[in-house]
Amino acid sequence: MELWYTEKQTPNLGFSCRIKETLCRVQTEYQEIAVLDTFQFGRMLVLDGMVQTTVADEFVYHEMIVHIPLRTHPCPRAVLVIGGGDGGAVREISKYPQVEIITLAEIDLQVVESSKRFLPELSSALDDLRLEIKIADGIEYIRSLQEAYDIIIVDSTEPVGPAEGLFDPSFYEAAFRALKPEGILVAQTESPFFNADLIRTAFRRIKAVFPRTHLYLAPVPTYPGGLWSFTLGSKHHHPLKPLGKLLPRDARYYTPKIHESSFSLPRFVQDLLED
Ligand code: SAM
Repeated sequence: MELWYTEKQTPNLGFSCRIKETLCRVQTEYQEIAVLDTFQFGRMLVLDGMVQTTVADEFVYHEMIVHIPLRTHPCPRAVLVIGGGDGGAVREISKYPQVEIITLAEIDLQVVESSKRFLPELSSALDDLRLEIKIADGIEYIRSLQEAYDIIIVDSTEPVGPAEGLFDPSFYEAAFRALKPEGILVAQTESPFFNADLIRTAFRRIKAVFPRTHLYLAPVPTYPGGLWSFTLGSKHHHPLKPLGKLLPRDARYYTPKIHESSFSLPRFVQDLLED
């Protein structure tokens, strides 16, 4: 008998993949965590029924949410990841020797523990000596920070439940205060095909706070619509003039040309950003 997992990406659209087995399934204070072993994508982290990351395609998302801001900044020393409990973003950040402080503010400890146990490819840098893991609500964690970080990466779940406040204007204002004078914020901002309103609103809210705001795209096969957006707010530096000298080692998606081209938007996405 075949076993299939289906994520209902919209009320009218399902994403299905055949699975070998369910490696874990647990209800935490915040969400249901499941790790599935799939034939097509390898191991897959699912939170409240939504695919978060898979071993087969996570490299695209984690390279793009990390290397675009870290190479835009001339010399990032302190980096904060909000969410990101699977460790994929931390793994990419750990490739920058000049980074001295990595903080992971993840609200659900059991996401970190599940990733350490079942997703070693993603959690491989969670023992980096520069890393401090704070099991905390990222909204609360940054509330009183002043110029503490060079980069803030919001690697959150969809804007429901504990992640909802990570898309509020007050969060972006707090992030601006928590960033140093040359600081950069990047947030995953969902699917251009299925979340146009969210992209439009998030872009406008970030633009109301940061002097420079840009949106870039990358293909993620297991996310709704297969195309994903990231919104970048910068206090000073322009993402199309990257100053980082180092190229990330063993990147499988990110290249300097991809960096540049990811900001070239199709007309229907560009239209979302017009005032
Ligand atoms: N790459 C995925 C994506 O783009 O959908 C995100 C993966 S990561 C597992 C998302 C994490 O955000 C989850 O572990 C969840 O617990 C965490 N999270 C949600 N809201 C949060 C909050 N307010 N503070 C800190 N972590 C939060």
